[in-house]
Amino acid sequence: MKHLRERDEAGEFALQKFHRRAEQIDKRDRVILKNEEERQVFEEVFDRRTLMILYDLANRGAFSYLNGVISSGKEARVYWGVKTDGTDVAVKIYLVASSDYKKRMQYVVGDPRFNRFRRDSRGVAELWARKEFTNLKQCFDAGAPVPKPLAFLGNVVVMEFIGKEGLPAPRIVEREVTKGDYQQIVKALKTIYQKGMIVHADLSEYNVMKFEGKDILFDFGSAVSIEHPQAEEFLKRDIANLNRFFQKRNVSTIEDNVLLARLQRGVRNSKEKQVPRDEDEIQLTNATDV
Ligand code: ATP
Ligand code: MN
Repeated sequence: MKHLRERDEAGEFALQKFHRRAEQIDKRDRVILKNEEERQVFEEVFDRRTLMILYDLANRGAFSYLNGVISSGKEARVYWGVKTDGTDVAVKIYLVASSDYKKRMQYVVGDPRFNRFRRDSRGVAELWARKEFTNLKQCFDAGAPVPKPLAFLGNVVVMEFIGKEGLPAPRIVEREVTKGDYQQIVKALKTIYQKGMIVHADLSEYNVMKFEGKDILFDFGSAVSIEHPQAEEFLKRDIANLNRFFQKRNVSTIEDNVLLARLQRGVRNSKEKQVPRDEDEIQLTNATDV
């Protein structure tokens, strides 16, 4: 396995190539680079450290090359990556410069899984990537319909691509929904809460994709352990968002309080033993080797 060193000439060349390639993709997909401000954003997404991380991930086989921009949000950029065997992956890069430090802190402080991290903007972006990976892993291992987490390093998470040929599956906000979708999502929430021990904390019609008849929940950066002091508050908000959307679409829903009680039933007493803590989580660094 090759690791990039600061003074490695071949590495330096590869880094520049990576940088140029990323620039080409962004230009082609017309995401940015239209003006000086957007140019700045590009340099922030692909700062030197992030380039090294991408290079490292590529060397570990997480992906072979980036092939397009999927989404350009305030918090993160999502790229379409391709592995050497042709498999598509989603590469999510958390932005370092424009991270909303205070808002992010709310979703970290009090989560027993994450006690140690650097409290600067890169530290928080990196924690966010680690947190999304860990959240996805707990949910995926519990059998919930979420993208399979594949690798993480620094501020970058690589996960299963939900969609076809670089085109992400539509989100439910863009599609008609049925009672069946509601039931699938409720079942997913139950698995995520009771077996994954996670509260999504940012659930909405914008964070659920519909792919091959299945409702897939994603965007787990802000998700928290059910032990987080605000876990119940976040869960209530998730339920309210979910119900509001389906009611607007004329699908009958389970009353907020009834659904809350149904999700929480049986979990409270066994919480202590089951929730993974920071110490258990150390082994996850190995998960970056794919
Ligand atoms: P936002 O701020 O808009 O919520 P975000 O920066 O938090 O976005 P996500 O919501 O995780 O990032 O992803 C943004 C978009 O990227 C999604 O709407 C979806 O279209 C696409 N996307 C994310 N993850 C995947 C994936 N695993 N497979 C395919 N597409 C994905
Ligand atoms: Mn999102």
